[in-house]
Amino acid sequence: MTLGSGAADLGGRSCVALDLDGVVYRGAAAVPGAADAVGLLRLRGVRVVFTTNNSGSTRDQVAAKLTGLGIACAAEDVLTSGYLAARRVHDLLGDGGQVLRIGTAGLSAELVTARLHPTDDPQRAEAVLVGLDPTFSYAALASALTALRRGLPLVGCNRDADYPVSPTDVLPGCGPLLAAVETAAQRPADHVVGKPGADMLVLAAQTSGTTLDDWFVVGDSPAADLGMARAAGVPGVLVAHPEAAHADLAGVVRAWAA
Ligand SMILES: [Mg+2]
Repeated sequence: MTLGSGAADLGGRSCVALDLDGVVYRGAAAVPGAADAVGLLRLRGVRVVFTTNNSGSTRDQVAAKLTGLGIACAAEDVLTSGYLAARRVHDLLGDGGQVLRIGTAGLSAELVTARLHPTDDPQRAEAVLVGLDPTFSYAALASALTALRRGLPLVGCNRDADYPVSPTDVLPGCGPLLAAVETAAQRPADHVVGKPGADMLVLAAQTSGTTLDDWFVVGDSPAADLGMARAAGVPGVLVAHPEAAHADLAGVVRAWAA
């Protein structure tokens, strides 16, 4: 499982966790050849699950975007850090739990889908959840601190420092927001569910009746994607990166299928 280890060590593995940003699409556009590559994998019986640390969109929204890009997809084929975080908070609180959340409308929608209640009231909250929030404010930080001083669990979507908005530009990710909350509360998050942790891959295996031995990871981030592969003990293949042996997803699939 080295950088760009290619398809040589994937033999017998019939399920792939495919990163989205930079691998399947960039911004609103599909990466050239990605739709055909996913189609070829599926044609050969490979189970494809799309994974992303992006907590801003719901699984339904991501599935609709992929379908619009020519990759037929259902919500069940998508795992986002927001979806995993909502599940984790539900594990902690159960139905109807009140969640003070820093995040987008998409993250709130995932909480509702998980039968939780987003709240802005730090006195009513039973957990604090931090995802990416472009409107993050001092007031939100103060509310989170008030809630956490009551001893509530703190759940983070991921620790990504930034995310790409163009080939040359990045914006701050969820990581700096989570770090601000942790610094204010003077304690680390109790759970961080996204890559490079193994949670996404473990859930993918559980919900498809497979084991981690059936899976491999394809992504463009050595830290996040290969990190998740390492944490789960499965092979990881790097694409769309200067050190990648295969420049793109289509190249990986060609090598895998050869
Ligand atoms: Mg990526």
